[in-house]
Amino acid sequence: MPLPYLLLVALLSLPVFFLLFWRRKKIFAFCRRFFGQPEGGDTSQIIEEDKLPAEESTILRTYFKGLSYVLANETDKAVAEFVKVARINTTTAEIYLALGQLFRNSGEMERAIRVHRDILLRPNLPDEVRRQTFFEIGLDYKRAGLLDRACRTFEELLVRDPENTAARKELSSLYVNLREWGKALTLHKSSPSTKNELNLIAHLTTEVAKAAEATGNKEKALKFFLQALELDDGCIDAWLHYGDFLKNENQILEALDAWERAFILNPDFVTLVISRFSGLPEEQKNKIEKEFFSRHLKEYSENRKFNLAYIGWLIKSGGLEEAGSCLEQVMKEKSGDAEVFSLASKLIDKISTSIGIGGELYNSVVRNFFSTQLRFEKSYRCRKCGYLLDEMAWKCPRCSTWDSVTVR
Ligand SMILES: [Zn+2]
Repeated sequence: MPLPYLLLVALLSLPVFFLLFWRRKKIFAFCRRFFGQPEGGDTSQIIEEDKLPAEESTILRTYFKGLSYVLANETDKAVAEFVKVARINTTTAEIYLALGQLFRNSGEMERAIRVHRDILLRPNLPDEVRRQTFFEIGLDYKRAGLLDRACRTFEELLVRDPENTAARKELSSLYVNLREWGKALTLHKSSPSTKNELNLIAHLTTEVAKAAEATGNKEKALKFFLQALELDDGCIDAWLHYGDFLKNENQILEALDAWERAFILNPDFVTLVISRFSGLPEEQKNKIEKEFFSRHLKEYSENRKFNLAYIGWLIKSGGLEEAGSCLEQVMKEKSGDAEVFSLASKLIDKISTSIGIGGELYNSVVRNFFSTQLRFEKSYRCRKCGYLLDEMAWKCPRCSTWDSVTVR
């Protein structure tokens, strides 16, 4: 047979070889890539016809079974399936990472730590997997309550990988929980600061100042209070506690200025400001309170929290008639909350005592009425997670967000 003829036959038979020996899955994938989904090209058919090796198929089946248990929140069954996967495939570290996470989520901390530590013993472990494993071990320690060890693990990880923001976040939250304010501050200062971050650093700096003041280190306290305000002059926490510091140093006018700044930043926090007046020398206290309310009455007459604080002060200082008319006004806007009930109870108590009506029996009936009606409500609420608190906190105890707690 002449050579050109032979070449022609070989060329024509190429598609036959192509169809016979190249996997159909690849042909479909090729078609999908260039022509979109082929007509009648059913994916299930492709998988069925292109059988996976037996081991791979078992792994996939077991893996998806485990996954369905995870989705159904049946962690124990999920763990059992993933252990099977890990036994079949002993080389892939990611499977062990996932298995360790499952152990951690189901509270089996010893097993979680052991699985994760075993990964680190593998030779030639890719850097990325090594870093992820360190991170997981840090989380294991944290979940197990071994906070110092968790800190050390994240610290070590950040030395290897300074840009690891997840590790930085975990370490920062651990430092804050351990009240290691200085370390938390150093950690945050070592990363580029956004506006939000500056606010957080101001809070941390304030905490360092408070801790220094508590141990009698006034110089350090003053330095850090001023630093906090320089970082973020909108930090109410810093202004309030800087004011407290100044008051303790007997710099009353300066303290009043600092508290005033806090009030203007958020008038809803008025009770946090006026509660501080009670710590002032007796001879100045009444005058300062009176001046505070008369100074702000006009500007903040629309602010409910300010009005309630004003009514409380009127009742306390004997302005009962004005307290009554202000209370009436407040109740027209919104009646029946715990603060209004409490003020009404105090006002009636004062009035009945001052005009001497009814005697003991009357007073006890009135008091009983109010005590049965009074609903004890939490005064503060986290805007982010809805957590309710009795006392103000600058960092929500539930969701750990700074400056999310507000008056209700
Ligand atoms: Zn919260």
